[in-house]
Amino acid sequence: MSWTTPLAQRVVNLKPSPTLAVDAKAKALKAQGADIINLSAGEPDFDTPDHIKEAAIKAIKDGFTKYTPVAGILELRQAIIDKLKRDYNVGYEPDQIVVSTGGKQGLYNCLQAIVDPGTEVIIPVPYWVSYPAMVELAGGRPVLLSSRPEKDFDIDLDELSSLINDKTRALIINSPSNPTGAVYSADTLKALAQMAVEKGFYIISDDIYDEIRFDGKSPENPVSVFPEAKEHIIVANGVSKTYAMTGWRIGYLAGPQPVIKAATKIQSQSTSNPNSIAQKAALAALAGPQECVKEMVKAFKERRDYIVERLNNIKGIKCNMPQGAFYVFPDVSSFFNKSADGFEIKGSLDLADYLLEKAKVACVPGIAFGDDRFIRFSYATDKAQINEGLNRLEEALERLS
Ligand SMILES: *Cc1c(COP(=O)(O)O)cnc(C)c1O
Repeated sequence: MSWTTPLAQRVVNLKPSPTLAVDAKAKALKAQGADIINLSAGEPDFDTPDHIKEAAIKAIKDGFTKYTPVAGILELRQAIIDKLKRDYNVGYEPDQIVVSTGGKQGLYNCLQAIVDPGTEVIIPVPYWVSYPAMVELAGGRPVLLSSRPEKDFDIDLDELSSLINDKTRALIINSPSNPTGAVYSADTLKALAQMAVEKGFYIISDDIYDEIRFDGKSPENPVSVFPEAKEHIIVANGVSKTYAMTGWRIGYLAGPQPVIKAATKIQSQSTSNPNSIAQKAALAALAGPQECVKEMVKAFKERRDYIVERLNNIKGIKCNMPQGAFYVFPDVSSFFNKSADGFEIKGSLDLADYLLEKAKVACVPGIAFGDDRFIRFSYATDKAQINEGLNRLEEALERLS
């Protein structure tokens, strides 16, 4: 009789990140020599600015290579406090900040800190792929809230209201959004914050794209528009997207002291402090010159204008104008139930597969974000690649009948 010691049920039920999987498949094909245009990446194509790299090199040379406080060095937490004051006009104390190994770990620790088995977390669709998985890992139940592209993926407050009950622990929002690029209005943010106070739940505001917005406005979140709700709002952010620092792994949480203390305790028993050298780099990013951010945002805006116009000129595609982040999320459902070259397109997964195999264009199927009608293209790649990718896309879509 053979015997296999089982794996934990929570990991058996866990799905691997589909965006990282697409990216891995595209990279593998590329490594085999295939001429792939990768429009699936979830990271800026720019290099980390030099002054940030220099700070890390200095940290190594100075021997800044030991454990730091679990929540991160005080100077970095102070720079985060200064940023939050500058952008949102809200004040935080150092014990209301915890620095983590990426924004992702901050979100994970936060959910571990507030979600009990049997409780619920409301997540608007389309959502960032990791939210439901993280809620489930904490033993909670993700409750999905639909949104409409015709309303620019705004939250329907009546529908949200109808989902709230005494098991509701939190609502997770992400504005600007991955994957849609939509930005919630100040009115929506304020209404959400008021509801959180009234009904007694947390809002986890994933602000990772807060600086990458194209309307020229400074960042907004539920705390900035309704500071009275501060005790109900947990801000999650990081340096990955704003400063082209995805590989450095620095993110943070800011929020009510009991939640931050709990998240720090979890971190103290799992990963301890985030990388000491990367903390110094993040400090240089947040406290240093911000021109690099403006330049990157300007480049993203030009690419957005180009890609949206071209997509909307392709028959059968409908694409909203994103107000932030670096993704477009067009409706491609008019191509479903068509076929070409032995590929039958039943949904977004089939379409993404067809595009990768036949057009050598990598993108992420909308089903990964909870809505099968769409696919996500990233424009965090140069104009020539975007242009070539769109040419191939156009041709491959035309062949479907
Ligand atoms: C990229 C991303 C994050 C976090 O990224 P890290 O690299 O872990 O800092 C969080 N939320 C969303 C929506 C993202 O796209």
